Amino acid sequence: MTDTPTPYAQLDWDAQGQPHSRQFDDVYFAREDGLGETRHVFLDGNRLTERFSALPAGGRVVIGETGFGTGTNFLCAWQLFERCAPADAQLHFVSVEKYPLSPADLQRALALWPELAPWSGQLLDHYVAIHPGFQRLLLAGGRVVLTLLIGDALDMLPQLDGQIDVWFLDGFAPAKNLDMWSLPLFQQLARLSAPDASIATFASTGFVRRALIEAGFAMRRVPGYGTKWENLSGRYAGPPASADKPWFARAAYRPEHREALVIGAGLAGCATAASLAARGWQVTLLERHGAIAEEASGNPQGVLYLKLSAHGTALSQLIVSGFGHTRRLLQRLQAGADWAPCGVLQLAFDAKESERQARLAEAFPADLLHNLDQAQAEARAGIQLPAGGLFYPDAGWVHPPALCRLLAEHPQVRLLPHREALQLRRLDGEWQALDGEQLLASAPVVVLAGAADVTRFAAAAELPLKRIRGQISRLPQTPASAALACVVCAEGYVAPARQGEHTLGASFDFHSNDLTPTTAEHAGNLELLEEISADLAARLNTEQLDPALLQGRAAFRCTSPDYLPIVGPLADHAAFAEAYAVLSKDARQVPDVPCPWLDGLYVNSGHGSRGLITAPLCGELLAAWLDDEPLPVPRSVAEACHPNRFALRTLIRGKR
Ligand code: SAM
Repeated sequence: MTDTPTPYAQLDWDAQGQPHSRQFDDVYFAREDGLGETRHVFLDGNRLTERFSALPAGGRVVIGETGFGTGTNFLCAWQLFERCAPADAQLHFVSVEKYPLSPADLQRALALWPELAPWSGQLLDHYVAIHPGFQRLLLAGGRVVLTLLIGDALDMLPQLDGQIDVWFLDGFAPAKNLDMWSLPLFQQLARLSAPDASIATFASTGFVRRALIEAGFAMRRVPGYGTKWENLSGRYAGPPASADKPWFARAAYRPEHREALVIGAGLAGCATAASLAARGWQVTLLERHGAIAEEASGNPQGVLYLKLSAHGTALSQLIVSGFGHTRRLLQRLQAGADWAPCGVLQLAFDAKESERQARLAEAFPADLLHNLDQAQAEARAGIQLPAGGLFYPDAGWVHPPALCRLLAEHPQVRLLPHREALQLRRLDGEWQALDGEQLLASAPVVVLAGAADVTRFAAAAELPLKRIRGQISRLPQTPASAALACVVCAEGYVAPARQGEHTLGASFDFHSNDLTPTTAEHAGNLELLEEISADLAARLNTEQLDPALLQGRAAFRCTSPDYLPIVGPLADHAAFAEAYAVLSKDARQVPDVPCPWLDGLYVNSGHGSRGLITAPLCGELLAAWLDDEPLPVPRSVAEACHPNRFALRTLIRGKR
């Protein structure tokens, strides 16, 4: 078995220190004055100075690019945006890249442009865990949102959902890379174009111009840069894209005041608050406890545990994208105290797991995960192990309350502790959150982020969420256990110590509603540890530990039947069943009936035991639904997480 190498760009560097693609035998930018050409072709070709300057307060521009390469075009656009756009405007930049530069190559390439250093420095800080699929990077405090689609343009663009205002076509010379200049690709650009979207490219070849025109763009030749005779610029003049299925369509409701109530201040709530606040929303975070992260997000250590599938399922795609996003957020926390990028080892504890791991190592790049034999695994972990396993070098452990605090710390997020919302009612275009008769807060938009308790609100009562109790045990570090160098998981997990204690977890109890830690579950956790490593158990002197005296903590994980989170707008349950009743007879029908949305009501829940990985990205997904932005995940993944999926399945299975 061989591990899949990361499909990084293979570069040669010329005498002037400029990168040259070995895969395509072409240059990334013009040898003479690369910045000058970028600005002429892409910025001026799309009249971006005028466009950015004319943005209204709180406005947004979405740029799409074919070929991210060194990010030079992106950085020039960002620099210009900062110079010309209103301070509260947002720039979205979506770029597709089949062969991303390795971080070291990116750094070397961007060192060519000292004047871009303030922007390239930020990009380089966030350029970690850039794995295949959708990868979102939040820059300039979230004012600039970069979504990289890592993969072949013809595979990735069809998965994108969003409207692009401005196109940069930059995929090496047409003669060297025909695929990037083909009609099917241009048809994708047409599908994604906002009305009157502009487009610019350095190419001037006749067949490129004709194919763009055939796809619906009105193109003209414009003077080229330097010695180059001409380029192409144009506008999208074709028909709008066909409508989505109504039950997954974007809700049209836009409140006059951008104010939201988020109910529940765990990871999902804090992440939602962060994503909305970064977009200029005033957010009130209602929390029944005295502080944030008091329930399932309150464990001392959570593990960045990626449970992937080799079959590219929606869940697996969400996990790779979510992991990258969380990993980049963690760069802002203090390593050692709040998190540790120590790596996570998943032991191949039986033959079935071993086969599963072999398939995963073939399906994913080696810098995301790779197999270690027993000796290699022991060297990594610093302890003796019963087997080798799958190692995730960029993963590690996190103190979840620290991530929650990082997310919720924003001047536009107001935390209201000790407020337990029990009912919701819509009055005069606002949602009111009540605790019995007492009004706690109101806003035109509400996001339910209280795990399984979201079902206490009538509008969300039908969501099939269930609670699974989990208990962790805290084990005092010993001089011998300090050798543990990475997180090790089998059925349970154990992490290197934080503040003198290892976290060992976690039990599963589908029935208990009681959160008092039990001795039986501490004993069960110690058995999990024994399976992970008898050596570590001995180093921790577990034989001498009395489970009845162990410290620990129990909380509820909240899961859905398909293990995907539930993220997006809510519809009226009864009206939905009525509007789409015909589906129970013929599942292929797409009735031309708008979805009966509950205006301004959204949910972000069901993250199970992997909220560290999925909740922050789902905050971005929720904000994208609410603000009509490009989605941070493939359309199919967003639909797989959509609250309406359950009502739809019920109808289709004829269970009404
Ligand atoms: N815009 C870039 C910059 O600012 O540095 C330069 C882009 S470079 C000329 C072209 C890029 O397109 C390369 O990074 C290459 O890997 C990428 N590319 C080529 N073929 C592709 C494909 N089929 N799908 C996605 N990306 C592709």
